[in-house]
Amino acid sequence: MSNPFEYAPAPESRAIVDIKPSYGLFIDGEFVDGTGTTFKTVNPATEEVLAEVAEASDADVDAAVKAARRAHTRVWSRMSGAERAKYLYRIARIIQERGRELAVLESIDNGKPIKESRDVDVPIVAAHFFYYAGWADKLQYSGFGTTPLGVAGQVIPWNFPLLMLAWKIAPALACGNTVVLKPAETTPLTALLFAEICQQADLPPGVVNIVTGAGDTGRAIVSHPDVDKVAFTGSTEVGKAIARAVAGSDKKVTLELGGKAANIVFDDAPLDQAVEGIVNGIFFNQGHVCCAGSRLLVQESVADEVMDRLKRRMATLRVGDPLDKNTDVGAINSAEQLAKIRELSAIGEAEGAERWSAPCDLPANGYWFAPTVFTGVSQAHRIAREEIFGPVLSVLTFRTPSEAVEKANNTPFGLSAGVWTDKGSLILSMANRLRAGVVWANTFNKFDPTSPFGGYKESGYGREGGRHGLEDYLKGTSVKGADS
Ligand code: NDP
Repeated sequence: MSNPFEYAPAPESRAIVDIKPSYGLFIDGEFVDGTGTTFKTVNPATEEVLAEVAEASDADVDAAVKAARRAHTRVWSRMSGAERAKYLYRIARIIQERGRELAVLESIDNGKPIKESRDVDVPIVAAHFFYYAGWADKLQYSGFGTTPLGVAGQVIPWNFPLLMLAWKIAPALACGNTVVLKPAETTPLTALLFAEICQQADLPPGVVNIVTGAGDTGRAIVSHPDVDKVAFTGSTEVGKAIARAVAGSDKKVTLELGGKAANIVFDDAPLDQAVEGIVNGIFFNQGHVCCAGSRLLVQESVADEVMDRLKRRMATLRVGDPLDKNTDVGAINSAEQLAKIRELSAIGEAEGAERWSAPCDLPANGYWFAPTVFTGVSQAHRIAREEIFGPVLSVLTFRTPSEAVEKANNTPFGLSAGVWTDKGSLILSMANRLRAGVVWANTFNKFDPTSPFGGYKESGYGREGGRHGLEDYLKGTSVKGADS
């Protein structure tokens, strides 16, 4: 079925962003040349090279950690919470003022649709800084003490570059820590713009240091002996490597890792609303979402009807130019990620699941994958067990609430889940039985700075957001799994 509603293109102008041909590292309040090599960051929607970026060497990471230590000892940890809050409020306001610039740059470097970077990412980034600014002078009421840990080494992924930066930096600074942060190799540009914002806000030098690079730079940060706290978001595989690297040290660690969330639809759910939630759950941000609702569990009695409505809805999704304000699904972030999505989808077909992709014309250049759904999926299929991290939904059915719980929990992950039903009592009993850090009821992918986020099992440990997000940036707490 072709799209019945054709829209004229409505591209957002990229004139607002000023992308430099090359970028250095942000250390001790200044942009400096790195001592290592450089790499290119590309626009995944066009494959255009956007800029040459410094790859921080061990020596650069060491300089950044030293700057962070000095800033912590001499300035930031001595400042009153109320003074620190002023800086955080200032940063939050500048993010709002420069919101359009940040959103356009995020969409260019990451490939996500402008309506998401503009209406979701950037507003939540600002909200995070406002929220933790509010805590900075009230830490005595947090229940976790008031003493910062020192220097935080933070490594973030490419799916929400600026948002993950905010989740990491805002609570760290509010508690009096200083940071060395590494953005992902494919999406460094908004973190570098954030560094400019730190300068604009007159943040004391060394409080925030941004070092770009790949896995080796990340390794150098997490294993640096003068880093007191490691905060990581990314794949479970790298999370495990980091846990091994810091084992035996007295570094505090939080890990936000992968997921394979069940989005559970009961037969009494408002089905059109549920279909919107399914679409949002798996196609938001091209499915590059750790808490994506990548496994749809639908009650057998309404399975056919839900699939009909879902396919009809998927056929109306507009895939294409991330800067077009009408675009629903943007570009896949990198050639590597596209190859991984293709590989797992091919395995899904080979293992016997039935594949259906929304009819859409994909652009000739760039990295693209049509929104796809697999039916006839069993729990043994790899597409039901592994994180695909793309716009691919695996559909399973169930008959009773207990069967739904058993299937939902049959995964090494435990990050999030969704429940769709008219019955409040069923929502509560499901929420109690699902082993997931977040359970959404009759909605999906809702984020708020006041609400803690994090996982069970192989989805990691520690919580980000809310009062709980302060715990792992203050002394007096210990590393612990969410299961303990
Ligand atoms: P990674 O986990 O490799 O990357 C996350 C961050 O860690 C990046 O900044 C990366 O650097 C850095 N890094 C890589 N190796 C190390 C290391 N040994 N020590 C410290 N830091 C390190 O994710 P990928 O980008 O490689 O994606 C691979 C898969 O992971 C995806 O296909 C997806 O399934 C999953 N993923 C899950 C995420 C989630 O939130 N659950 C987020 C991102 C990916 P750099 O990228 O610059 O090399």
